[in-house]
Amino acid sequence: MPRRVHNFNAGPAALPLPVLEQVQRDLLDFAGSGMSILELSHRSTTYEEVHHQAIADLRMLLRGSEEYAILFMGGGAQTQFALVPMNLLPARAHADYLITGPWSMTALHEAQKLADARVLWSSANTHFDRVPTPPFDYPLDPQSAYLHYTSNNTIVGTQYAVVPEAGDVPLVCDMSSDFLSRPVEASRFGLIYAGAQKNAGPAGVTIVVVRQDLLERCPADLPSPFSYAQVAAKNSLLNTPPVFAIYIVGLVARYLLEQGGLTAIATHNADKARLLYAAIDASAGFYRGLAQPHSRSLMNVTFRLPTPELETRFLTASSAADLIGLQGHRTAGGLRASLYNAVSLTSVQALAAFMEDFQQRWG
Ligand code: PMP
Repeated sequence: MPRRVHNFNAGPAALPLPVLEQVQRDLLDFAGSGMSILELSHRSTTYEEVHHQAIADLRMLLRGSEEYAILFMGGGAQTQFALVPMNLLPARAHADYLITGPWSMTALHEAQKLADARVLWSSANTHFDRVPTPPFDYPLDPQSAYLHYTSNNTIVGTQYAVVPEAGDVPLVCDMSSDFLSRPVEASRFGLIYAGAQKNAGPAGVTIVVVRQDLLERCPADLPSPFSYAQVAAKNSLLNTPPVFAIYIVGLVARYLLEQGGLTAIATHNADKARLLYAAIDASAGFYRGLAQPHSRSLMNVTFRLPTPELETRFLTASSAADLIGLQGHRTAGGLRASLYNAVSLTSVQALAAFMEDFQQRWG
């Protein structure tokens, strides 16, 4: 057996072992083709089957209707920060943004380079320790082109438990770090985008789920690879797609379906997060969570120790115990354990036990 550590990386992150083993089996001779999938034409029927099956399995996981197009695009989530306003925000209109962390702030700033994007709500003045909760009382203009929010804030460790209210304004969500981690009420959204590299697969592909009627907004003079309408019209085969990443997303989607779909995965994820937050809450303040309890993320658990020296000591000792990837984001400091789908309960138990032991030694 190869050595496998407890992987708490924030992204790229842990992938399910059965998926990696399948990739290994397929690598030299994919589906009897005598070639690796890396070496096949993206116009071959062998690849096209992989492509269409990945879309079909994602649609099944999301219980999404044909009313939504599912696209595979390049450029990561940050490219979507620009493509969303380029496609959906006409001149003379404006869009609104809920600002709950550095990524939603960057999304706003990228949109402002192109159009009129406004802050509707922000938790910047409390270090992004919370997200808006019901009743959502921000003054959303019904004329807004869309309302943009970030469902899970990877850096600070907060997450919306409830989809924010948008009335008839199309809701646009950066779901990069909790896509496929829990059921999605697809019909609530105008557009969802997610870089694959947390819960859905490897880096290199971004998944976009867009309501078909919004495609009519995409300006005809946009360069084709930037246009959701053009990419959708070609079923994401407009140019050479990131074939290897899409193939792995397909394997992950199939694996999640076999595990019982997103409801089952959500239960598993909630169990893991509950265990870790309980360890923090039982520490009498030795471990201090960064997020307000009502806004805690089930995906990224962020916390601090009493001093920076103890945090360094914690990181050294945890990595010696094969607990990897626990350093907080460079802008937030402290520690962060990312508990994406492929992180097992056993790994979280190992971390919780390590934390208790560390506190007994140094607390
Ligand atoms: N949004 C969120 C919520 C993220 O977590 C990240 C990456 N960690 C990004 C956007 C940026 O993604 P990318 O590197 O794929 O552009």
